[in-house]
Amino acid sequence: MQVPAYVEYEKATSVEHAIALLTRFGPEARILAGGHSLIPMMKLRLAQPETLVDINGLSELCYLSVIGGELRIGALARHAQLLDAAVAGEHFAILHDAERVIADPIVRNWGTVGGSLCQADPSEDLSAAFAALKAIMVIQGPGGSRTVSAREFHTGPYETVVAPDELLTEIRITIRPGGGSAYEKVGRRVGDWPVGAAGAAIWLDGEIVAEAGIGLTAVGAQHFAAAEAEEFLNGAPATEASFEQAGRIAAEHCRPASDQRGPADYKRHLAQELTTRALRRAWRRARPPGAAGQDA
Ligand SMILES: Cc1cc2nc3c(=O)[nH]c(=O)nc-3n(C[C@H](O)[C@H](O)[C@H](O)COP(=O)(O)OP(=O)(O)OC[C@H]3O[C@@H](n4cnc5c(N)ncnc54)[C@H](O)[C@@H]3O)c2cc1C
Repeated sequence: MQVPAYVEYEKATSVEHAIALLTRFGPEARILAGGHSLIPMMKLRLAQPETLVDINGLSELCYLSVIGGELRIGALARHAQLLDAAVAGEHFAILHDAERVIADPIVRNWGTVGGSLCQADPSEDLSAAFAALKAIMVIQGPGGSRTVSAREFHTGPYETVVAPDELLTEIRITIRPGGGSAYEKVGRRVGDWPVGAAGAAIWLDGEIVAEAGIGLTAVGAQHFAAAEAEEFLNGAPATEASFEQAGRIAAEHCRPASDQRGPADYKRHLAQELTTRALRRAWRRARPPGAAGQDA
């Protein structure tokens, strides 16, 4: 049996208390959210924090609501909570698409949205979904709160801009008319991490793509995004040919690595095909009700 090394344990009673504890115990302290990434890493001694600051009691971080034209998701919202939230699926179907294929019900009952983003695993599904949606992350520390875009949040594999004395508290996504989104993933088996996955969000102005967001995971895309493909789509006709070309561009600019989940050339193929499929489905969802090609 794998056993973590000795660790001190503190239970935070508020966000301010969590920040005070992180400040007191320094860089060797770690937030404990759902524990579904951190605890396995501690068992394998890949992570060896001196203190765990447990935020599971912070119900003020467990919410999903629409405020001021934005969907706001508390960092401690569980995967299952996001999947159950009709308001999330109504505005951003990509979030429900992604949540349906993340792990299994046990992991989804414990794992949190904030923990997934802060773990910054290069194969994390939600990192690609939030990159496609161009979400904003709210980070709180001793000096108050700050916001960063999803594209600035991850600085590398397992690294984010969140400082040791800070905490991710909320994710915000602006709700705009004419939008649709979708997520497409290929895994080796049900509930597994992706071999490759793509998320797309598009906002239409008639038959033109007014703006596009494309997120990629597990294929070595910088900041989990396909910026060059987005640039190509902005202002382009919303057609099958445009979506196929965007898929080709996305595949060209990512840097997949061969590993136990598959060879690099297969992952590059997935980046292309899944980007095109996600765009196609996002477009159908963005169409006004009753329009040709409109989708659920
Ligand atoms: C069997 C299994 C299968 C999985 N399959 C998938 C999958 O298919 N796709 C997928 O995307 N994920 C998958 N996961 C990961 C899952 O989504 C986890 O929930 C997620 O990685 C971490 O969330 P957590 O709340 O458990 O975080 P924790 O393990 O508690 O924390 C992870 C890291 O984030 C930090 N942290 C947590 N919350 C905050 C915060 N608010 N502010 C600052 N730092 C914070 C912690 O200190 C730690 O470093 C899987 C996990 C397991 C165990």
